[in-house]
Amino acid sequence: MSHISLEKVHKSFDKGQDVIKDLSLEIFNDEFLVLVGPSGCGKTTTLRMIAGLEELSQGDLYINGNHQNDEDPSSRCLSFVFQNYALLPNLTVEDNIVFGLMNHPYTRLEKKRRVEEIARKLSLYEKLGSYPSQLSGGQKQKVALARALIDSSDIVLFDEPLSNLDAVLRESMRNELISLQKQFKTTCIYVTHDQVEAMAMASRIVLMIDGSIIQVGTPYQMYHDPNHLDVATFIGSPEINVIKISMKNHEVYHDQEPITVNDKLKDIMEIHEIFEAYVSMRPQDIKVSSVKKEHTTKGKLILVEHFGVNKLLHIDALGQTLRVLVSADYMETKELYVDLTGDAFVFDLQKRRMRQTIQRTLIISEYPKNFEDIRVVKELLNYGYEVNEGLMDMDLIYDHKKGVYQFKNQGSWIQLHHMKELLNYLPYIKDIEPNGV
Ligand code: ATP
Repeated sequence: MSHISLEKVHKSFDKGQDVIKDLSLEIFNDEFLVLVGPSGCGKTTTLRMIAGLEELSQGDLYINGNHQNDEDPSSRCLSFVFQNYALLPNLTVEDNIVFGLMNHPYTRLEKKRRVEEIARKLSLYEKLGSYPSQLSGGQKQKVALARALIDSSDIVLFDEPLSNLDAVLRESMRNELISLQKQFKTTCIYVTHDQVEAMAMASRIVLMIDGSIIQVGTPYQMYHDPNHLDVATFIGSPEINVIKISMKNHEVYHDQEPITVNDKLKDIMEIHEIFEAYVSMRPQDIKVSSVKKEHTTKGKLILVEHFGVNKLLHIDALGQTLRVLVSADYMETKELYVDLTGDAFVFDLQKRRMRQTIQRTLIISEYPKNFEDIRVVKELLNYGYEVNEGLMDMDLIYDHKKGVYQFKNQGSWIQLHHMKELLNYLPYIKDIEPNGV
């Protein structure tokens, strides 16, 4: 059981600018949390602060409710898996793995038994007598993994552990890691700059940009309900399209030219009284046709990428390149007409997501009393949700008899065994209408 809390953490090196800015995050027991973001955004620094390899400049770090800022790395009950494996070249695989038990008072025989057990689980048994130079990249990473898992640490931290492997091996190691995490029930924090890896592995994703958390959510939320334009553009492949628009007298323009978009977008802009915005559309939500139709915009095909069942058309339209995903059997023509009336997100010029509603509020029957549930409320506040106690219109009710929560999800009630399961349903937390109703 391991719970990590970061509260208003800042980090600067040599009294320079903050490279981590006001970072607050709750990491729950048994989670596979992935920190993702572009190079230099502060992922490794965050991981190293959790490990105790870097000091916090400001803020607090707790593990299981215990303050850790001044604790030694060795007392934090965690292990680290690095990108470069960090194996000792002059030791055999067996001795490299035993290294992970350095701080344990087991007998030699007991250590051997444990090494053999984990080596079998990771298909390394045959290699116990080999040296690192005799192993493939994937096998080396498995040895590093075995060394991290063998001392039954409650928390395992991974810093881009698969980035040295080729694409096929990376994918199989990804699956292996996820199943190992389920088996060992460790809390994992995993750093990568690869959003595909993040989407494939995470129970929750933390997207960082420039030292700040931009959004935390399940892979589903990050893709379908981004809070920020940078989330929409970072998550999802092929990349989302972004079109700058303006609105005047309920008409939408791009570069002074009238265009037709989904009516919902206009409503959202009117609700928020914004007259310029970014409209963002996934490549599968833009439709194309070879004949002009009402409300379509003319474009020119410049490139086709084939992805098996689909292909991606790159179309020169609206003075930019639009990416449109069509089925592989679509017969493309050189001149095309794009239809922008499909589903889209709206972001203001500060890149913040504009929704039809303003404040998302969770009304709970009573404030929780146990440690983990209190931290769920804390995490909701970190994300900008409001949490209120109320007797009417409740969204989350604690059923004392059964010891479970009931959550109102789009009109029907679902049962949650732990309040942290609520984090999978954030998009369904009810909105308060803009006029406060
Ligand atoms: P990458 O994906 O490239 O590894 P990252 O997101 O992990 O990047 P960090 O390594 O955490 O980013 O670095 C965040 C910022 O802190 C960068 O601007 C980096 O230059 C700076 N930084 C990291 N370590 C130090 C250090 N020891 N001294 C000074 N600056 C540092």
